[in-house]
Amino acid sequence: MHDFAYLRPRDAAEAVALHARHRPGARYFAGGTTLFDLMKLGVESPTTVIDVTRIEGMHSIDASRRDELHIGALAVMSDVAEHATVQREFPALAESLWKAASQQLRNMATVGGNLLQRTRCAYFRGAPEFACNKRVPGSGCAALEGQNRGHAVLGGSEACVAIYPGDMAIALAAFDAMVDTVSPRGERAVPVRELHRAPASTPHLETVLADDELIVRIRVPRGPVGRASTYHKIRDRESYAFALASAAVAVHLQGHRVVDARIALGGVATRPWRAIEAERSLVGLPLTRAAARRAAELAFQGARPLAHNAFKVALGIETVTDALMLAKERS
Ligand code: SF4
Repeated sequence: MHDFAYLRPRDAAEAVALHARHRPGARYFAGGTTLFDLMKLGVESPTTVIDVTRIEGMHSIDASRRDELHIGALAVMSDVAEHATVQREFPALAESLWKAASQQLRNMATVGGNLLQRTRCAYFRGAPEFACNKRVPGSGCAALEGQNRGHAVLGGSEACVAIYPGDMAIALAAFDAMVDTVSPRGERAVPVRELHRAPASTPHLETVLADDELIVRIRVPRGPVGRASTYHKIRDRESYAFALASAAVAVHLQGHRVVDARIALGGVATRPWRAIEAERSLVGLPLTRAAARRAAELAFQGARPLAHNAFKVALGIETVTDALMLAKERS
């Protein structure tokens, strides 16, 4: 057990000021479902834990605006999944939350923390005797030649091939959601699609956020493309496992033809992965199974499988194809 200071700010401004005063080594604490896990594994060793859970105004889900749904960063996963507007207008988002974790975890984990969860690569989490560039920059990557069945086929580099493990971010990326943040340098908005970095040569840098930057809310644009959507998740067991392949898919049809399509991939890439070319291939066409499959194949065109995960390409293509057909049934 390492000693750490525990601080409880009253508002977001105080939280970021405390972080600035105690860096490096300060970490924000929300639901704790990732941070405490990593502290027990010895992956994270903060010197100061800043508990933001009691900050007012960051827990609510506000559906009163016509153009955007606002979700406070401290809203817990279960409240968002069960919200009537989320279920009606963004079924893929509700499903991504239901399928992400057990009820106990959904009741504790916040959506802000969920976005920032770290990879489940076993070499990163529990095996300090193995090389891991994400845990110790410059040490190498044991997964490249090791057990890489669960690793990425899209977006990997010579330095890291760990998948982004979350589900909700995949749905949010499909819906072009934004995150609002605050830091000592002020406020800014970041598209969820640009929040996570590809590993390139610096896999220890996982997002574009500075370490003292606090997510305060998520904004999801409202519109016709959300309702006919689904989050399709394939995993080793049906209940509460991480995705081997997943797809958040939304379609907007006029008559039989597609006017807007969204395809985001999870479980196969190093970050939430929008398949823009695949989406474009569907626009103007009737959404047949053959068209869906062609789009799914396009989504995996640049895949680079490793020794043990080539199956993810075929599995991912089936996942996207089935997801598009499921979304069509909701249009
Ligand atoms: Fe570490 Fe990434 Fe390699 Fe896993 S895949 S061992 S997280 S560098």
